[in-house]
Amino acid sequence: MAVNPETYHTIKKQLDSQNITLVAVSKTKPVEDILALYHLGQKDFGENYVQELAEKYDRLPKDIRWHFIGHLQTNKVKYIAPFVSLIQSVDSEKLLKEIDKQAKKNNRIIECLLQVHIAKEETKFGLDENELDDIMKDTKHSNIRICGLMGMASFTTDEKIVRREFQFLKSLFDKYSTIGTRPSAFSRLSMGMSSDYKMAIEEGSNMVRIGSLLFGERNT
Ligand SMILES: *Cc1c(COP(=O)(O)O)cnc(C)c1O
Repeated sequence: MAVNPETYHTIKKQLDSQNITLVAVSKTKPVEDILALYHLGQKDFGENYVQELAEKYDRLPKDIRWHFIGHLQTNKVKYIAPFVSLIQSVDSEKLLKEIDKQAKKNNRIIECLLQVHIAKEETKFGLDENELDDIMKDTKHSNIRICGLMGMASFTTDEKIVRREFQFLKSLFDKYSTIGTRPSAFSRLSMGMSSDYKMAIEEGSNMVRIGSLLFGERNT
């Protein structure tokens, strides 16, 4: 078994005690590994690819809460709209609009996080501060709920850079959780992965996305 129960329980206990949601990132991992973790009590799983997520959804228990955390193309929203629990990687108004449309079709409300670009790397998706501001001001969609922010720090061993990026995201989160009409709905700050989740928690994260630490390294 690729999943080490002791590692899982240690991390889970620590996060539970601080009311932090653990999203187990299972991209590229087989359904057997996901089931192993599920049987240890894990319910929140994160995936990056639409087709992979749809296939896993079909084959796995229906009380799993699926988080979509990868770059989402508008033409693929329809494949996950019937069941996805939280789309963490919304990076445009156009995508929000499509999610709203597909949510209506499925007669449900889809919860979303807005992904903010906080890293130095050009390759990471996400909104800049101004785009975020525009969406927070103007968005009026009936079948989506914007529940908070998500971000990925730079891929670097320089802790100071990573910490500063987390602090920046936290400051944006604080800004929008205190204004707006439904402050209580805007409550999720998703930041932190295997290598940096402890620091992310120190900086105010309440949702971490952990893959390799739980499932082992991915074969790419
Ligand atoms: C892959 C991925 C993770 C998990 O990464 P690990 O380093 O394996 O913990 C978290 N968030 C996003 C957006 C990812 O793509």
